[in-house]
Amino acid sequence: MATIAETINEAAASIASDTSRLDAELLLAHALGVGRSYLFTWPDRSIADAQLMTFNTLLARRVAGEPVAHILGCQGFWSLQLAVNPSTLIPRPDTEVLVETALSLCRRDTLDVIDLGTGTGAIALALKSERPRWRVVATDASPQACRLARSNAQANQLDINVFCADWLHGVADESMDVVLSNPPYIDANDPHLNQGDVRFEPLSALVADGAGLADLRSIAEQALRVLRPGGHLLMEHGYDQHEAVQQILKRLGYCDVNSVKDYGGQWRVTMGLKGYEHE
Ligand code: GLN
Repeated sequence: MATIAETINEAAASIASDTSRLDAELLLAHALGVGRSYLFTWPDRSIADAQLMTFNTLLARRVAGEPVAHILGCQGFWSLQLAVNPSTLIPRPDTEVLVETALSLCRRDTLDVIDLGTGTGAIALALKSERPRWRVVATDASPQACRLARSNAQANQLDINVFCADWLHGVADESMDVVLSNPPYIDANDPHLNQGDVRFEPLSALVADGAGLADLRSIAEQALRVLRPGGHLLMEHGYDQHEAVQQILKRLGYCDVNSVKDYGGQWRVTMGLKGYEHE
C-alpha cells in the first residue's frame, strides 16, 4: 500500500503546473478529509484503497488541466474560504495586494466602498472582514457571479450588499469613498489565454478590448461621477499596464496617481484620488 509521502511524490510528478506539489497535497488532503498539515505529520501512513480511488479521480481531473479550485469547489483568499465555480475568476494571491493597499490608504473607520466585477466576492468580503464598519457594496454583470458572491458572504457571515450591474451603472453620484476593481485586463490575443488554468475561467472575466485597457478606462471614467471628492479609485491591472493606467487616471484629472507591485514584484495596482476641485 502506498504511503502519503509516496502518493504525493508520484502525483506531483504527473501534474504539469508550477504548483504541482501543492496541488497534489490539496487534492490528497481533500480525498482523505484532513487538513494539509496532517500530510506532513503522517507521511508514512498508508492510504486505504477507497481513499486512493477518490484521490486518483481528483488527480486525473488536475492532470487534464482543470484548476484545483474547481475540483475542490473552493479557494482560500485573504483569511477567507470562498466557494468557486466556473462562472467567475478564481481569486488570486496577487489580488490581495489590492485589498492591502485599500486598507492602508483608507484609514477611516466608516466609509462607503464598492467592488466592481466582484466574482466570488473576494475583494469585497476581505475588506468587510477587516473593517466591519465599512459599508461594502459589490457588483457584477453576471447573475451567477452575484449569486456566488452572496452565498460566500453568507457562509463567511459578512454583511455586504451584492447587486447585478454593468460597472457603476445605477450607482448614485458622489455616493462612494472608495471604488475598487479587479476587472478584465488581458488582451484578446494574449497567448497565455490558451495555457494552463485560465482556460477554465470565463473570458468575460479576463479579456478586455483596447489592448486590455477598455474596462480599466470605463471604470476610471465612471468612478469620477460616483466618488465623493477626496475618494479613492484602486484598480488591479496587468504587469505591463501601470504606465498606461496611470496616464488614463492623470488625463481624467485624478490626483496622487501611484502604483504598487504584487508579491511577485510586478506592477499590479494603480490608484488615484478624486480631487476636491473636480467638476
Ligand atoms: N491576473 C490574472 C491572470 O493573469 C488576470 C485577472 C484579470 O484579468 N483580472 O491570469
